[in-house]
Amino acid sequence: MASISTTVPAGSGLSDVKELTKIERIGAHSHIRGLGLDDALEPRTTSQGMVGQLQARKAAGVILEMIKEGKIAGRAILMAGAPGTGKTAIAMGMAQALGTDVPFTMLAASEIFSLEMSKTEALTQAFRRSIGVRIKEETELIEGEVVEIQIDRSATGAGAKTGKLTLKTTEMETIYDLGQKMIESLNKEKVTAGDVITIDKASGKITKLGRSFTRARDYDAMGADTRFVQCPEGELQKRKEMVHTVTLHEIDVINSRTQGFLALFSGDTGEIKSEVRDQINTKVSEWREEGKADIVPGVLFIDEVHMLDIECFSFLNRALEDSMSPIVIMASNRGITRIRGTNYTSPHGIPIDLLDRSLIISTSPYTEGEVRRILSIRCEEEDVEMTEEAKDVLCRVGMETSLRYAIHLITASWLVARKRKASEVEVDDVRRVYSLFLDEKRSVQYLKEFQDQYMYNTFAAEDGATP
Ligand code: ATP
Repeated sequence: MASISTTVPAGSGLSDVKELTKIERIGAHSHIRGLGLDDALEPRTTSQGMVGQLQARKAAGVILEMIKEGKIAGRAILMAGAPGTGKTAIAMGMAQALGTDVPFTMLAASEIFSLEMSKTEALTQAFRRSIGVRIKEETELIEGEVVEIQIDRSATGAGAKTGKLTLKTTEMETIYDLGQKMIESLNKEKVTAGDVITIDKASGKITKLGRSFTRARDYDAMGADTRFVQCPEGELQKRKEMVHTVTLHEIDVINSRTQGFLALFSGDTGEIKSEVRDQINTKVSEWREEGKADIVPGVLFIDEVHMLDIECFSFLNRALEDSMSPIVIMASNRGITRIRGTNYTSPHGIPIDLLDRSLIISTSPYTEGEVRRILSIRCEEEDVEMTEEAKDVLCRVGMETSLRYAIHLITASWLVARKRKASEVEVDDVRRVYSLFLDEKRSVQYLKEFQDQYMYNTFAAEDGATP
């Protein structure tokens, strides 16, 4: 690989593709716009679509702050709590608050069990999707813009032509005069405002290029020793630098000879050779040393983490120790359960050594008031008008069954209300859909009553009632 490419060809619409995937995934959480914290990281009771769960949100806020400051990498966080207590919602809130520059990857643990690639390859890809490389690039030179001033200071002071003075944009106004004097003394060419000149560091020769010299291409052609000075016209403008963030995984795919960048759209990246990754790691470290790039550790969110097996957990333990590791947030609604791939049980089905290195955030069940507020927010989000009495009934349904079930009834009852040409959902509409769609408890009850009519029924055999 001669050079490492980080750019996706123009017009490829990669960001659109990413956006679509995101929208599809966060449908159930589209009302969440952040963690709803104030500047002191104190959770507001209801804010940015978030209701209650104050402790957990505050804890998530602290983690977020640490991520933003780039202080932590390679940490594991476990969100533990009963189903429907907002673990995923809080993770989504964190993703929103992080903004688009910090990579956030969401993965259901079962997604890594695929026939196309090994489990460790799938996890490696997920890790590298969650590590951003912020690359700084100079943009095309635009007329009237100061690009870079690098002048051989000793060339004027002591008469020698070595050493360098790099000017910072903030100092330019004073330094401009200095530069002007130096240039004049280097050769007698008079430079006026708006001129673009080049200074050859070795010879000190100044060439005036005129105002039309604006192409980055031409700049490259002059070689590394040539620097440009554009003399200011009126106010000095800042030097322009383009910063863009790509993930390590994107760089891997773009540079993988077998895949090519098109694989980014199909998602069909297959396995990536370890030598490609090694070369990229080396290149990225070089860029970091040269100040051309920074690493942005992002977040890898693994939902239903108890679905991982012991091999994956051992991989996680090791991968978290890498200096470029992202923050791994895991979520589980399991109690003490078997660790997949072993006969041992452990809390949340996670090995004790991984638990030991995790910060654990627990979520607790909602109060009636909180359930009602979440349902009201969902009504707004789904554009459903509902009477206060109907919301009361739906809230009771939510308390007795589950928050998720109650959320599902919102649009269903709206459709029923619309059928009778009503402008808002009333109590009867909620009752109607409640009787049409079973919640989990009633479904189990129904099963128990009519089990004999189902195929391959093993209840009876286990009870020993039938042979
Ligand atoms: P599971 O363990 O079953 O995956 P979970 O803890 O991840 O459950 P969520 O999926 O986050 O639960 O929550 C269920 C629904 O309730 C989602 O639509 C979510 O957006 C909403 N919800 C949960 N908690 C809150 C909250 N505190 N504020 C607003 N909405 C919430």
